[in-house]
Amino acid sequence: MPAIASRILKLITVIFLMTFANTLIARTKVEGLLYLTKKPVSVEIEDGMIVRIREVKRLSDPHPVFIAPGLIDNQVNGFAGVSFCFAGGELTREGIFKATQELWKKGVTTYLPTLTTNTKEVLKHNLALLSDSKNDSALLGSIAGFHLEGPYISPIDGYRGAHPLKYVRKPDWNEFMELYEASGKNIKTITIAPELDGAMEFIRKCTAMGIVVAIGHHNATREIIEEAVLNGARISTHLGNGCANTINRHVNPLWPQLANDKLMASIICDGFHLRDEEITVFYKIKGPDKTIITSDVTSFAALPPGEYKNEEGETIILTKEGMLRLPAQNVLYGSASPISRGVARILKITGCSLGEAIRMSSTNPSKLYGLSDRGVIETGKRADLILFEIGDSELVIKKTYVKGKLVYEAQQ
Ligand SMILES: [Zn+2]
Repeated sequence: MPAIASRILKLITVIFLMTFANTLIARTKVEGLLYLTKKPVSVEIEDGMIVRIREVKRLSDPHPVFIAPGLIDNQVNGFAGVSFCFAGGELTREGIFKATQELWKKGVTTYLPTLTTNTKEVLKHNLALLSDSKNDSALLGSIAGFHLEGPYISPIDGYRGAHPLKYVRKPDWNEFMELYEASGKNIKTITIAPELDGAMEFIRKCTAMGIVVAIGHHNATREIIEEAVLNGARISTHLGNGCANTINRHVNPLWPQLANDKLMASIICDGFHLRDEEITVFYKIKGPDKTIITSDVTSFAALPPGEYKNEEGETIILTKEGMLRLPAQNVLYGSASPISRGVARILKITGCSLGEAIRMSSTNPSKLYGLSDRGVIETGKRADLILFEIGDSELVIKKTYVKGKLVYEAQQ
C-alpha cells in the first residue's frame, strides 16, 4: 500500500476511535438539576472520577432531583450505635464500615471520625484502629483523616461541655506525637483551648506540620484569640457551643471570634445547639465562604428515641424531636442529626442559596483540609455525588455515589 494511503487509513482509525471511544469505555451517567444553577445536567463518570459535565435540554426522570457534591462532615463522634470514642474494644472494623454506610444514606460521602477527651491509651487504641480501616477499599476513601477534639480543652464547667473532667489536661506535645503516630499521621485537625499553658507553642507546631488548628471548648480573651490566629488557628469549633450558659455580655469568647475575619466558624444547625437567630447572625458575619456546617453527631444518632447509657454509665436521653441530652449535667450530649439536616435548616433560616449551603457543607471543608479531589462537581474530581430533594427539615437523599459507585438508593 502506498505510504499516503496507509497514513489516511491510520487517520480514519484515530478519528473513529475518538468519536466512538465513549461507547467502548464503561461510563456511568448521572443526571439531575445542578445545585449551583438548578439547570438539568448530565455528569459522566469513569473509573470513579467525573470526566464530563454537560447541560441537557431535559431530564429523563419526570420528578427531577438536585445533584451536588457529597457532604463533608468534619465532626463525627460516631453514628448509628458505633462510637469512635469508646474504650473497651467496642470499636471494630465492622463498626466503622457500618457507621460509614449509614452516613452515606444521609448524603455524607467524606467525614473526619472525631475522638473526644479520653485517656492516652484509649485515644491511641482507637486512632490506630481507625487508621487501619481508613484505607479499606470498602470505605471508598470516605474517611479523610481524624479530628481530635480535646483532651487539651478548658476544664471549667460549661466551656468543657460534656467532655469528662478527669481526662482534660494541658497541651502535651510528646503525648500528641504519640497519638499522631498511632493515627498513621492522619490527624487532620485538633480542637484546643488557646488559653491553656503551652497552647501557643502547640498551635505553632501543629500549623507547621499542616494540621488544621481549631479553637473550641475555651474561655479565651480577645488577646489570646488574636494570638492563636497569628500562630495559625483557622477555625472556631462549633461556635456558640462549648461555652458557658452565663457569660459577661461584654467580655466573653464569642465577640472576638465573631470579630476576627481570619477565623472560620463551624456551626451545628440541628435545631438544638443554636437558636435560629444565632445561626442568622453567625452566617451574616462569617458568610458562606467562612462558615462550615458540622454535625457533632454521636453514636446515638440514627437510633430510636429513648434512654441510653454512655460509657461512664451516665444516662443519656434522646428525645422524640432528636435532642440528645446529658441530664445530670444539664448539657447537650452532641447531636443526633447528620449535616443533611443542618443544610436544610440553614437554607430555611438564612435564605441562602442551595449553592451556598453546599459550599458550607462540602466545598469549604474540602478546601480547609486540603481535600482537593472533592467538594465540587468538576471534571477530574472524585465522583462523590448526591441526588436529593429539599425536605422540610432535612435533605431527602435519593441516591449517593462514592467514587463513582452507587452506595445508596432510597426505596421508592
Ligand atoms: Zn465539642
